[in-house]
Amino acid sequence: MMASSASCRAELLQKKLFIMDMDGTLYLGKTVFPFAVRFVKNLRAAGKRVLFFTNNSSARTETYIERLKGHGFDPQPGEIMTSGDVTIEFLKRHRPGKSVYVMGTEDLLASFRAAGIDPLPEGSRQADIAVLGYDTTLTYTKLSDMCRLVRGGSEYLATHTDLTCLNEEELLPDCGAMIAFIKAMSGKEPVAFGKPNRETIGMLCEVSGCAPSEMCIFGDMLTTDIAMGKRNGITCSLLLSGETHPEQLGSLPESEAPDYVFSSLDEVDRLLFPQ
Ligand SMILES: [Mg+2]
Repeated sequence: MMASSASCRAELLQKKLFIMDMDGTLYLGKTVFPFAVRFVKNLRAAGKRVLFFTNNSSARTETYIERLKGHGFDPQPGEIMTSGDVTIEFLKRHRPGKSVYVMGTEDLLASFRAAGIDPLPEGSRQADIAVLGYDTTLTYTKLSDMCRLVRGGSEYLATHTDLTCLNEEELLPDCGAMIAFIKAMSGKEPVAFGKPNRETIGMLCEVSGCAPSEMCIFGDMLTTDIAMGKRNGITCSLLLSGETHPEQLGSLPESEAPDYVFSSLDEVDRLLFPQ
């Protein structure tokens, strides 16, 4: 767990693909971490590949590209994935031609349409599949639609299961809280994508051409970023710049403990690329 060891530096510098969480890792809400911009620049200069990955399915990939560009990260189209992208990829590969209802933001709906999946309208009474996304424009009508469809036997999927989303001021209810609402009414739980789901790892391997042993992941959440690494053989580093407090680490079993802990990407950058 010591971040400053030479063996940690050697291990991380051997990796080919650096998977970066976004919220809590590169920025916190609207506050960009300047050291994160510096770290990504240094990774590129060292010939490393970067993949920005977020469970937040409230915005589509193009929106994240613009946001990260504005923050100075200079992302390329293939370098960003959301849990929404993974869900869409699953539907394209394994559920072609099925009717799909999506509870999500306009951005999420637009990314479904761009992939050739035209979501059913609000008020739909039937769907082969009901997808729950992080809907920051949630209404009672949309919740009722989801409950009706799930109770009625539609296949139930969720982009991810995070209970909370941290902005710079407070914890907000995320997908997991919406899943709990629907479970209270319907008794049903979804098959979920995003970190740390296995479907996500398969897609990352496919997109990057890298094996899990050639990847490392940096993120601020134990239940998503670190769990994804621990369950899939990817070296994982916890950053204390977001949602996780150091006290949470003391009681963790070895199977859930991050390989490395850093205060932020600033510490990682100084270790890997000393000036
Ligand atoms: Mg995060």
